Amino acid sequence: MSNLESFRNETRDWLEANCPDSMRTPIKSEKDICWGGKRFEFASDDQKIWLERMSSRGWTCPTWPEEYGGGGLSKEEAEILKEEMSRIKARPALISFGIWMLGPALLKYGTEEQKKHYLPQITRGEIRWAQGYSEPGAGSDLAALRTKGDDKGDHWVVNGQKVWTSYADECDWIFALVRTEPDAPKHLGISFLLIDMTWDGVSTKPIKLISGKSPFCETFFDDVEVPKENIVHEAGRGWDVAKYLLSHERANIAGGGSGAQMNPASAARQSGEVDEDGRISDPILRADIARLTIDALAFETTLQRIKDQADGGQGVGAKASMLKYYGTELNKRRHELNMSALGSDGLLWEGDNPEDGDPARSWLRSRANSIEGGTSEIQLNILAKRVLELPGG
Ligand SMILES: Cc1cc2nc3c(=O)[nH]c(=O)nc-3n(C[C@H](O)[C@H](O)[C@H](O)COP(=O)(O)OP(=O)(O)OC[C@H]3O[C@@H](n4cnc5c(N)ncnc54)[C@H](O)[C@@H]3O)c2cc1C
Repeated sequence: MSNLESFRNETRDWLEANCPDSMRTPIKSEKDICWGGKRFEFASDDQKIWLERMSSRGWTCPTWPEEYGGGGLSKEEAEILKEEMSRIKARPALISFGIWMLGPALLKYGTEEQKKHYLPQITRGEIRWAQGYSEPGAGSDLAALRTKGDDKGDHWVVNGQKVWTSYADECDWIFALVRTEPDAPKHLGISFLLIDMTWDGVSTKPIKLISGKSPFCETFFDDVEVPKENIVHEAGRGWDVAKYLLSHERANIAGGGSGAQMNPASAARQSGEVDEDGRISDPILRADIARLTIDALAFETTLQRIKDQADGGQGVGAKASMLKYYGTELNKRRHELNMSALGSDGLLWEGDNPEDGDPARSWLRSRANSIEGGTSEIQLNILAKRVLELPGG
């Protein structure tokens, strides 16, 4: 038996013995997601047990080195773990900005002390991180950011405001872009700082949406003292870290395009639109679903190829923009088709069952995919400039 086959068998046995039954159902809503962090309230004992068991094996971050709390798995082993988890429909034990944004940036740019300090805490879900990039007047044109850090020798004093900071009021720490070299050119005066949200001068104000919910905040920094050791990479070189982190953020958001949890074909069958042979009876809906399925398979293959290249050390670079653009447009198409397939059932907003209204809420949430992490227009601009080398203004 090859090493990979025995790894698959061991993994299958371990998951069978350790994944609680209630963690073998798809994530349907926000409350099913384990975000971790000091203030996180577990939805159930099983959710907590699942996190503890997975993180003690390093499998919340399977390919990170073991010395930083990861699983030390090869790409092939990590793929097997993913397949075996999806075979039993196991949920991710932990989802966090730490895992899919900050962690990769620290692995590339962090000092040894930073990696040893922060990465194991991320793998165990002990710190919940917020992303402090966008500001009023600095969204798509991120390098226009004005939050500033005054150099005081062994620390900076940070003043300014961020906006659209997802879940900032529930987070413990924030990674923030701060202008520390006021006289340097736009992209060269920015530093990437790690800030504890309990420090004096950090405050958040939730932004209430029309739904009454508040997934975002404004985040304010008033004379916040940030020690010099809390910088990642060099002063004034935060843009390198920011771009590298964004390529991970974009590739991850794009991953939603493969859409394992959402199936318009089953939605059509569920709403009873089938002929006597069990085929979806509406030919237009059938053709749309077939086209989406083919596009999604092609996208998944491309995503996998680019991930393999990245694992091989080639970097994702501007290809992340292609994935972000296509993956999020595909995801929006999938949700729209799902709503068409469900017919009037899709319009349900709330009801007696906890999952009532999920399709409509997920459809609305998918609209934000082509804005968060950089809008579709900006991705197309990057592709035009950096990949197609078209002339630009
Ligand atoms: C769900 C969600 C979660 C988010 N979470 C976070 C977070 O945690 N942390 C954080 O820092 N930010 C977060 N954001 C903010 C997000 O990164 C910004 O919304 C995004 O970068 C766009 O910036 P903006 O909203 O300022 O829009 P603008 O930059 O003002 O853009 C407005 C419109 O103009 C278009 N546009 C702008 N410039 C150009 C151009 N040069 N060419 C063509 N079209 C252009 C844009 O595409 C867009 O359609 C989140 C956003 C969403 C929707």
